[in-house]
Amino acid sequence: MNPAPSLVAPAGRGSRLAVANHYPRGWIIALVGCMALLVVIALMTPETLARSWVTRGAGVAACLVFVVVALRLPAKVRWFWLLMGAYLTITVAADVIDEFELLHVDPEGFPELPDFMYLATYAPAIIALAVLGRRISSSRNVDSWIDALIVTAAGTAMVGAWIIGPLLVDAATITSATVVSCIYPVLDILLLAALVRTLFASPRWNPALGLLAASLLLFLIADLYYNVLSAADEPANERLLEVLWTAAILSLPLAVTAPGAATITARSSSPSADVSLLRASILGVAVLVPPLLVMGQQWRGHYAIATRLSALVVVVIALLFWRAARLLARVRDQAHELESQARTDPLTGLPNRRTWEHELARVAERARASGRGLTVAMLDLDHFKRFNDTFGHLQGDDLLIEAAHIWSDLLEPDDVIARYGGEEFSVLLPGRTEEESFDLLQRLRASTPLHQTISIGFADLRPGEEPIEAVRRADIALYRAKTQGRNRVVGYEGPETFLTQHEDSREPTWAVVEEWPDDH
Ligand code: GH3
Ligand code: MG
Ligand code: MG
Repeated sequence: MNPAPSLVAPAGRGSRLAVANHYPRGWIIALVGCMALLVVIALMTPETLARSWVTRGAGVAACLVFVVVALRLPAKVRWFWLLMGAYLTITVAADVIDEFELLHVDPEGFPELPDFMYLATYAPAIIALAVLGRRISSSRNVDSWIDALIVTAAGTAMVGAWIIGPLLVDAATITSATVVSCIYPVLDILLLAALVRTLFASPRWNPALGLLAASLLLFLIADLYYNVLSAADEPANERLLEVLWTAAILSLPLAVTAPGAATITARSSSPSADVSLLRASILGVAVLVPPLLVMGQQWRGHYAIATRLSALVVVVIALLFWRAARLLARVRDQAHELESQARTDPLTGLPNRRTWEHELARVAERARASGRGLTVAMLDLDHFKRFNDTFGHLQGDDLLIEAAHIWSDLLEPDDVIARYGGEEFSVLLPGRTEEESFDLLQRLRASTPLHQTISIGFADLRPGEEPIEAVRRADIALYRAKTQGRNRVVGYEGPETFLTQHEDSREPTWAVVEEWPDDH
């Protein structure tokens, strides 16, 4: 797997400068400031008013920066960032209400207004990511969907084993609190699905999208951690939770100001064919999660949960098979494509020299087996160099393409025409008399487009000889056609006798024998 050259920073000072240019200085200072703030929050005593002010103040500041920057972005990306802004704003507002126990009817009650606000945050985030995923992926990128479903299945298995399973199994009666506690992880899973699908469909590494993903993953990890412990009735580490949540919040203004924010909706030009190492590793881990969880639940005696989780194992195996089948189909298509490229001349679409050699052996063998004749002809455009010099190489290419097209149309299905090389072609005519071959070659010569002329030399395959001998004789005849003035068809008859047409002959026949000049 070759890393994209643009992503590989060259060693030395230049690379550091390039990175510094890429990320504005102010942005790097903000990043360092955010990290310092996280350290401060980690060091502050939990449950103090000072820490509440610091964390919620940071959240409000993050919101303000985010919305102001998002409003100034181009319209084609603004909708996305404003939806994420809604997500951030509702989250921070719920945090503030929760923290200062504002608007609480019963501070100990659950679910309360902030809980419904937290649930509401999922809607803009999931919509934004789902629409973004559709926008940036070229056509229907089924593979990124399958990969996203595999990762989602792993997330579902975790949530099922650690949160929903224990909540429902242990619950004597299902209360609204249980339902809300179950809805959170379900929405987390939907968000994870939308996020992973978008990341997998993303055409190239985008720092803004990376930071956004980091933020959402931090939220998801913090949620998972919190929910798992509350499902198990164990206290969570407040410091860790607060750091994770604040890091998630601060990553969002960093994302909207990072390089790539204004191009986040740029469409991928082609579906990403190969699976990157990172993607393969994520899938590798995701695939192992459901079976490992089944084993874990069985080991702990939670058979009811293990049985339900095993359904997810089946789903993941089915998805893997589907993915593998698509990969195999693609490999097969690419192999066919490569094979046909290796056999075909890219300019004219005719068989190339290598294929011609195979065809020569095949057609000669068939001719020998059936006792029918085989004519081998070599064609060479006259003064093609001059044509190129006069009209340009592109026009020269067009001539080659058009000539190949016209000549192919004049041939029968059993005949073979190939590009021998440069402005030379070869034609193999099985099962024809010498006269029929001559007539057909004359028609080819006369049909050469753009007022160009062509010289043709041909020879018949003799019984028992190697086909290459006939080629050698056809070549001699071609040379003869050139030296005799070009624009003619010449057949090799004997070492010194050739068949051609009188220049002034109106007869369509070919029965003229010429002497080979002494100097050849
Ligand atoms: P002659 O009548 O003796 O065959 O003269 P000629 O100019 O055709 O022969 P020569 O071998 O001197 O030149 C062949 C030319 O064919 C030179 C080369 O630029 C041109 N040629 C070969 N392949 C291509 C091609 O793919 N495209 C174009 N445009 N020209 C090509
Ligand atoms: Mg030539
Ligand atoms: Mg030529």
